Amino acid sequence: MTERAETTWAELPIRDDLRGGSPYGAPQLDVPVALNTNENPFPPSERLAAAIGAAVADTARGLNRYPDRDAVRLRDDLAAYLGHGLTGRQVWAANGSNEILQQLLQVFAGPGRAALGFEPSYSMHPLLTRVNSTEWIGVPRAADFTIDTGEALAAIERHRPAIVFVTSPNNPTGTAVPLDTIERIAKAAPGMVVVDEAYAEFARAGTPSALTLLPEHPRLVVTRTMSKAFAMAGARLGYLAASPAVVDALLLVRLPYHLSAVSQVVASTALSFAGELLGTVDALRAERDDLVAWLRSEGFTVADSDANFVLFGEFDDRGAVWRRLLDRGVLVREVGPPRWLRVTIGTPAENAAFRDALLAAVR
Ligand code: PMP
Repeated sequence: MTERAETTWAELPIRDDLRGGSPYGAPQLDVPVALNTNENPFPPSERLAAAIGAAVADTARGLNRYPDRDAVRLRDDLAAYLGHGLTGRQVWAANGSNEILQQLLQVFAGPGRAALGFEPSYSMHPLLTRVNSTEWIGVPRAADFTIDTGEALAAIERHRPAIVFVTSPNNPTGTAVPLDTIERIAKAAPGMVVVDEAYAEFARAGTPSALTLLPEHPRLVVTRTMSKAFAMAGARLGYLAASPAVVDALLLVRLPYHLSAVSQVVASTALSFAGELLGTVDALRAERDDLVAWLRSEGFTVADSDANFVLFGEFDDRGAVWRRLLDRGVLVREVGPPRWLRVTIGTPAENAAFRDALLAAVR
């Protein structure tokens, strides 16, 4: 029997607006020093791994049943972690903050609506926007990657977007957005304002979270993740804080039992080790500040960073520098403005390897 040739996209009735697209994805290469996806380089302790193992074993005995559809215990735990007087009613959880963003777009955007963000920023915001048949409006940031409040308000007035995304600290630049700017955007926006705080825990002192603005702004949403500070990228757990009405609206689009019993118990167990896990954040912040100072002392341009990564440049051919780093076993990210590269903060040994490789790469 002759085998049929492999089917191509041309033969499939793929949605017209998806046809030309390409999937999101940083290269997942097996390299000695992976500093490309803003993970926390410190693995869970043996004590935490054992606690997760025991909790999962216990949960396994009930896996014939569907999980708690509303993840009540986990949401209470997340609210307690966030503080600010929040309760589980104001918190929602899903498989990574990407799923949270997807659910927000499903509820608040859609055909005939627009979402607006300040670029360069997290590329999943426009990607998820388009997948949800929503128009994307990218407003450029200033040369120093800050948001010009006047321009932001003018763009909001002009486009009347259903959702405004504000990433703070911003990926890939590391730039935190002042609360005053977020508040003025929240007052002016006709729809939802989503502050993506995936990197909030890494902010330098004096960079407050937008959580403080929630009581005054019912259409404000703050999204967070356990992938970064909590060193739980593999567990896939993201969450948001917002008014209870926003959480109730998300129930309209969430898939039944979207968050597995295993995910829920892993996340709650990790939260009970918050002190230990967040201990790595202080070390990473100090490593970041050292790396920024070192890069500047070596003559590189560096964006101020409130995150666990640093955007540095400027290179006439960043692709060549990226490749030479990779040749030396160091994987960074070719992302953001064309003359810059982004490096995630690793362990002290990984950061040292990056410094050596970078000097060799640009020599
Ligand atoms: N928001 C921002 C700004 C990010 O950089 C990332 C991860 N790269 C996410 C959200 C998504 O993270 P996760 O789905 O792992 O929670």
